[in-house]
Formats: sequence, structure tokens, C-alpha cells
Amino acid sequence: MKACVDIGGTKVAVSLAEDGRKELQARQAEPTAKEGAPDAVAQQVMRLIDAACAQLGVPAASVDGVGVSAAGPFILDAGGAVELATPNICGGLAGPARGLPNDWTSAVIEAPLRRRYGRVRVENDAVSALEAERRWGALQGLDHCAYVTWSTGVGVGLCVDGRTLRGKGGNAGHAGHSFVADDDNQHALCGCGNVGDVEGLVAGNAIERRFGMPAAQLFGAARAGDARALGITDGLVRVMGRLLYNLVVTLDLQRVSLGGSVFLHNRDLLLPRLQAQIDGRLPALTQGVRLAAAGLGEQVGDYAALALVA
Ligand SMILES: [Zn+2]
Repeated sequence: MKACVDIGGTKVAVSLAEDGRKELQARQAEPTAKEGAPDAVAQQVMRLIDAACAQLGVPAASVDGVGVSAAGPFILDAGGAVELATPNICGGLAGPARGLPNDWTSAVIEAPLRRRYGRVRVENDAVSALEAERRWGALQGLDHCAYVTWSTGVGVGLCVDGRTLRGKGGNAGHAGHSFVADDDNQHALCGCGNVGDVEGLVAGNAIERRFGMPAAQLFGAARAGDARALGITDGLVRVMGRLLYNLVVTLDLQRVSLGGSVFLHNRDLLLPRLQAQIDGRLPALTQGVRLAAAGLGEQVGDYAALALVA
């Protein structure tokens, strides 16, 4: 039996899957633990796995592998095990002004899980989604590809030569925090502290902050032909399109799968416009490169952790 764990800033979800099956069972979810010792999240995960086993009527000892899809960024401990340095979880990063009820600078996760379950793999949520898309979705059979989520934030998972990229701290793919435009006005403050990076300019919450309306309303107006909304849409697509183009030519990718609520709810409007940002530029690298909506659609997050241990 494998345990699939999804850790976000607001909730932790756990489900179980039988070996070799793509079916998630006995789902348990709670608000993310943010009080107590820095291993509180790991303790919560183990308790939820126990609860899922009890619900399914299987012994807790039957879990012999755990996949963890988590909001980043990560740091590694001296033994190379992942700890979460997530600003929405660890109150010690931004200080008391952030209002979190702890002073953690990181939340240990991999080491305690490894001690109990043996086989554990912790990856950033976009990297986990990349693996799910390669296994079951729009990236099947491809060795040079990326997954990009355009949602509350902007996250990226990267695969080159058939290998998922990890980097020195397990953070490869944080391209949402790269700069592709000069627009650095005060409304483009990203949660990471940057002003005017991609996420600060185009993420769901940035759209609302910069233009005074939710993404759904903006893109609805654009679809109806509203000139101002179409102009804003073109500006957002130019920023995201540059990010996608930069990924394609830097890593020589074949395909990029796109997910996340901002993209998936507006794919009719956004997909052709984003593709146009790739096409025709440096044909030796971009000819035939296709952008695709996530094959797993809205369920890509559900299968992300499973892909790490399947
Ligand atoms: Zn940022």
C-alpha cells in the first residue's frame, strides 16, 4: 500500500492507493498544522495515514511507500532530506508580522517519514504534477517536457533527457519567480518578496490586485470582446508566453503541459494566444513544439503524489 500526501499552505490531504492501482482511497484532510514543534506537519501526516488505514481496514504497517507533493521552496538537512521552507507554513521566515503561530524556519518532513516508512519521495507540487502528466496525462512518452501551473501562483516542473530536474535544494523549476518584463509597479509584489516577477505579474491573486477584478471576470470580459480586457489579456499572455518560450529554448523541450485554475478555466482564450508566443521564434528550437492543456485536467493535483510512488 502506498500513501499519497498533498501538503499546501492551508491544508494537508492524505489518501491510499493499492500497489499498481491508479485509484485513491480513504482520503483524509485537515488544515495544515502550524503549532508546536517543527515536526508538527510530519506528525500530522503520519496520524492522517494511520486514520486512512483505519478507515480502509488495513494495518498501518502495510504502508511501505509515501509520495509527498508539497508547496515549496525546500531546503535539505545535513543528510539530504527535504524540509519545507514554505512562507505560508513557517512563521520564522518573515517574522511575527506575518501572523503565523510558530517561529519555524523550516518544517521537517522527509526524515521522520523515512524513519517510519522507508521509501519516501518528496517533491514540489509542480514537479509531482509533471510526473503525473508524464505517466497518465499530456506528456506521455516524452523525455523533454515541462508542466506549468497557472493558478494562485505559477509553478514549473521540468524534465530533460527523461530525467526530472531537482537542483541543489530540490527547487529546480521555480521559474515563476524569474523576471521577463520591466513592469515593476507596487501592485506586482510576489509572495516571495520580488516585485515584478512572473508570478507577481500574472498569478491569479496578482491579476485581482493589479486590475481590480478576479481572473474569471477579466477573461469573461475579454471573451465578450471588451477592448480593455483584451488588452490586459494580451499583456498577461506576453509575460506567460515569454516564460514558456524561455523554458522551451533553454531546455530544448518538446511539449509543455499547462494546468492550474487560471489556465484551465480559460484555456479556449489563453491556449492559442500562448502558442502564438512560441510559434515562429527561432524555428530550429520551436518548430513542432506544442502547448497542451493538462491531460489530467483538474485532477492533476490528485494524482501528483501518487505519481511519485507509483
Ligand atoms: Zn516570486
